Amino acid sequence: MRLSWRRSSRIEDRFEAWITQQHQQRVLAGETTPTGPCPDDGFLLELAHKSKSIRLSDPRIDHAANCPKCMSRLLELRGKSRSHRRRMALATAITACALTAVLVVVARFAMEKNTSTTNTAVVARTVNLWDSGTVRGEQPGQLESVSLPAALVRVTIILPRHSASGLYLVAITRDQNGSGVVAEGTATSVANGEQQQVTANLDLRKAATGPYFLSTTHEQDQAAYYYPLQIR
Ligand SMILES: [Zn+2]
Repeated sequence: MRLSWRRSSRIEDRFEAWITQQHQQRVLAGETTPTGPCPDDGFLLELAHKSKSIRLSDPRIDHAANCPKCMSRLLELRGKSRSHRRRMALATAITACALTAVLVVVARFAMEKNTSTTNTAVVARTVNLWDSGTVRGEQPGQLESVSLPAALVRVTIILPRHSASGLYLVAITRDQNGSGVVAEGTATSVANGEQQQVTANLDLRKAATGPYFLSTTHEQDQAAYYYPLQIR
C-alpha cells in the first residue's frame, strides 16, 4: 500500500514538473507544434485527475503538453480538480470536527446518565433494634451505633423484642419529638422467626450528614419510638 502510493506520488510529481516546464517553455517561446489531433475531453479529464490508466508514453500527453488549446483546458480541469480536492479536505475536516462534537456530547450524556444512575441506586441497609429498649418516651439504652448513607436507602429494621406485627410508619427526624421529618415510609411487618421486621424506602439524598433519629410508629399503638442515628 505504502510503497505503491509512494511510487505513484513520485510519478505524479515528475509529470507535474514536466508538464509545468513544457507549459512555461511554450508560453515563454510562444511557439509549440502539437502532434496529432486534439484528444477528447474525457482523456484530458483523466489526465487532469492523474488517472493511473494513462501511461506517460501515451502520445496524447505529448500533444496536450504542446497544444495551447489542450493545455489551457487541462489547466482549467486541474484547477477544478484541485479546488474539488480542497473542498473534500475541508469537508473531511468539518466532518471530523462534527464527529468530535458528537462524541463529546455523547460522552457527556453518558457521564450524566452514569451520575444520575449512581444517585438513584438504592442502598440496602439493615438496622437491628432487637436488643434496644422499647420503653415509650424513653431514650433507648445501649444501642449499636446506627448509621445510614445520604442516599436512597432501602432499610430493613429488625424491630425490638416483643414488637407487635402490623403496619409501621418509619421516619427519619431531626429531633426526638417527631418534628423535622427528613424522610418517611410505611411498611407492614414481616415475621422472621421470633423477630418482626419492616422494610421501607427512605430518600435521604438531600439529608445533610449529622445526627438524626430513626422512629418507628405502629399503626394502632401510635406511639413513636426514637433511636439515635447518624447520616453519613
Ligand atoms: Zn490539442
